Amino acid sequence: TVKWGLIGASTIARQFMINAIRAQPNSEITAVMSSSPERAAAYARENGIPFAVSTLDELLGSDIDAVYISTTNELHLEQALAAIRAGKHVLCEKPLALTGADARKMVAAAKAAGIVLGTNHHLRNAGSHRAMREAIAAGRIGKPIAARVFHSVYLPENLQGWRITRPEAGGGVVLDITVHDADTLRFVLDDDPLEVSAFTQAAGMAAGGLEDGAMCIWRFKSGIIAQSHEGFTTKFAGTGFEVHGSEGSLIAKDVMTQKPIGSVLLRTAKGEEELSFDREDLYVRSLRQLHAAIRGEGQPSATGEDGVWSLAAAEAALQSAKSGKSAAIDPKL
Ligand code: NDP
Repeated sequence: TVKWGLIGASTIARQFMINAIRAQPNSEITAVMSSSPERAAAYARENGIPFAVSTLDELLGSDIDAVYISTTNELHLEQALAAIRAGKHVLCEKPLALTGADARKMVAAAKAAGIVLGTNHHLRNAGSHRAMREAIAAGRIGKPIAARVFHSVYLPENLQGWRITRPEAGGGVVLDITVHDADTLRFVLDDDPLEVSAFTQAAGMAAGGLEDGAMCIWRFKSGIIAQSHEGFTTKFAGTGFEVHGSEGSLIAKDVMTQKPIGSVLLRTAKGEEELSFDREDLYVRSLRQLHAAIRGEGQPSATGEDGVWSLAAAEAALQSAKSGKSAAIDPKL
């Protein structure tokens, strides 16, 4: 049995991850840590978790094998390093840290300790994105040329907190959503981005110098160019992911989401075909891969290295937006 400790009494754990952990065979959640003892106790009670603590030492000293970190972003680094030191496997939320350099420290520490470190980039687990990756790899669109990602949403009111007010906590849409888009582009295209040019905006929701909208243009190693749009302020935009190749186009709708929904259309000279794909819960699949990695079978669906890549890409996007020039992406792995 893998015994899990939750670091962070968060919304994402409550909405998706507690269920995903409990959906695995031989898996249980034994403890939750919040910085507030009252919140820890209330969260444990509401979610049926036996043990509530308010310090990292108590959590790491308890009978657990793995931790899921879903605190605000500035806390991930120290919490992950402490968990690794204590010999616990780590599934960490994105962005892994506030800088690529800090994320690399996490990867190096996990490697040295022989610990599994996964990044919770859920979209790699979506049947839709896996179907697109497979179609491209099978040559169904010929040579991939360009991609477009539509991932501008409306940040739900219950989440209109640190993401739009606290730069020191790693707020802003780039660290929140651009990291996912960079990772999903890497996964679907099976290619790495080398360079990005970005514009960001504060369109009325974010404060404190944070951005609540971004448009990025990416250049990949193979020559593919891509554009991505991330936002917190658009109520009616819908999401999508398109890849256009020499012999066909993949047009996915409603797929930049936490749910196993949406559609993927393949359009070629032969006409149009809806691709079928599995509708498994994204987070349940992510946890299954992580459990397998803990058993020594394969890798997490997104590794620590993947988390370094997505954060290096987001960091470069922020740098580009600030400087007005394109920025190179170098994960230094
Ligand atoms: P929340 O704001 O729900 O939780 C983050 C932290 O805020 C908690 O750890 C908690 O601290 C504190 N907090 C929560 N509620 C309160 C409250 N009422 N009063 C004071 N503090 C409170 O964040 P999310 O769940 O949205 O995000 C957490 C992490 O997960 C982030 O890194 C984010 O990027 C990532 N995320 C990833 C997603 C994915 O699909 N991969 C989706 C959503 C988020 P404490 O633990 O000390 O109580």
